[in-house]
Amino acid sequence: MKKTLFIMVSALAVFAASAKEVDGMTTNKVAKTDAEWKAQLSAEQYRVARKKGTERPYTGTYWNHKELGIYSCICCGTDLFLSDTKFDSGCGWPSYFKPVNDQAITEHRDTSASMVRTEVLCSKCDAHLGHVFPDGPPPTGLRYCINSASIRFRKADAPPANHEDGSQ
Ligand SMILES: [Zn+2]
Repeated sequence: MKKTLFIMVSALAVFAASAKEVDGMTTNKVAKTDAEWKAQLSAEQYRVARKKGTERPYTGTYWNHKELGIYSCICCGTDLFLSDTKFDSGCGWPSYFKPVNDQAITEHRDTSASMVRTEVLCSKCDAHLGHVFPDGPPPTGLRYCINSASIRFRKADAPPANHEDGSQ
């Protein structure tokens, strides 16, 4: 009986912790007007990141980029992907097998263009990043197919502090 109670209390604690986290993220959202985004971004970055556009394959800055570092959101600067999860997918867009952590991105079902796909967005500012497909390499089997226009690279020798899921 005592054990059951302990499990129940633990479950409640976990639930409360995750609810708090979601709440905290909502209040930390970056929200700007269209005019503000337009002023901040290039025409191509605005079209892709704020209007759910797609850059032409093999034309972006990062599809064949191999330096060690971190890719962050072009709109709000949140770290999204690490170079050690980037792989050569041959699809013409930068491809990663996982995001820097589960909180950084949000996934939405996307039924546009007569396809059912999973759209990937920045959790903090809702920038459109690209799509995730189930044809990636191990360990996740996922391919995060991301527009160069939605991200910015910076060099880093060591993984950033928010690489926190401990799976590496
Ligand atoms: Zn963002």
